[in-house]
Amino acid sequence: MESTGDGGARTVGEVGERGILTEVFGVLAEHGAGADGLLVGPGDDTAHLRVRSGAVLATTDTMVRGQDWLDEWSTGEDVGHKIVTQNLADLASMGGRGTGVLITLLCEPELPLAWCRDLTTGLARACARAGVPVVGGDLSAAGPGVVAVSVTALGELGEGIPAAVLRSGARPGDVLAVSGPLGRSGAGLGQLRAGRRAGRWVDHHRRPWVDLEQGPVAARVGATAMIDVSDGLGRDGARVARASGVDLVLDEAAVAGLAGRLAPEVGEQDALRAVLGGGEEHELLATFPPGRVPAGWVVLGRVEAAQEEPGVRLGEQELDPSGGGWDHFGG
Ligand SMILES: [Mg+2]
Repeated sequence: MESTGDGGARTVGEVGERGILTEVFGVLAEHGAGADGLLVGPGDDTAHLRVRSGAVLATTDTMVRGQDWLDEWSTGEDVGHKIVTQNLADLASMGGRGTGVLITLLCEPELPLAWCRDLTTGLARACARAGVPVVGGDLSAAGPGVVAVSVTALGELGEGIPAAVLRSGARPGDVLAVSGPLGRSGAGLGQLRAGRRAGRWVDHHRRPWVDLEQGPVAARVGATAMIDVSDGLGRDGARVARASGVDLVLDEAAVAGLAGRLAPEVGEQDALRAVLGGGEEHELLATFPPGRVPAGWVVLGRVEAAQEEPGVRLGEQELDPSGGGWDHFGG
């Protein structure tokens, strides 16, 4: 089979499925992670994975060009990296870790082969960082302008974790905490919109990464509910609140502390908006019985009985799920 080399000018339509797969397998071999549990990897009709615990976690996420990323802001490698983080954070939020990912690319024939290679590099690097193998995938041609990437991640609960942590287990009296700083991705998105193309928050928005091991860590110490912050603290917090039938009450000083890290670069108002409403953060938001919050987590507030409709409050104020419209801080 011919080598496609670095001739970035060619399109996927020109090299065809065999040419694309040659490229993809080459990149996976270069960067990919192996795994003990992988009995049969890519190349056959299906992958075959050993299951340790007898129960499988499964999740999927799709990103669409123009919808979930803009080519002006994000490279193929950024997209590959981000979609792996999204999926693996979903597994982590249940107390699990990945055992394999499957990737589907649906694209116009005019897509440069180089973009496809970059995408695979991003996927493979992110997977290797997490120690999760790419076990299979699919390719399909789509109409003009269309590029969609879909990843399905398989996983299992960390050892010693008896049950997946759900959104519905938060109880009044629990402590609300997050596995790391919030607002970095949101701050970076704001900077991209303002025309900036570099900087640590821009980088974090393009390639968010979190300590995925904190999911199993939280589950092991008895987290009562957990979710990853994919759509913003307000929206994802409200999901936990509704599923659990409680209010999540954010501590104003804790929120101000997180925003304070971002404010010197993006301004106080945007910093606050990024902390409360910024999506694609993927840090884990969890509730714990008092005294059980793992080291390194940031305490954000507490769980109380719902006042009316379950939701998220900042002090005494009900939080707009979007985190926007925050006259309270922004003036
Ligand atoms: Mg999620």
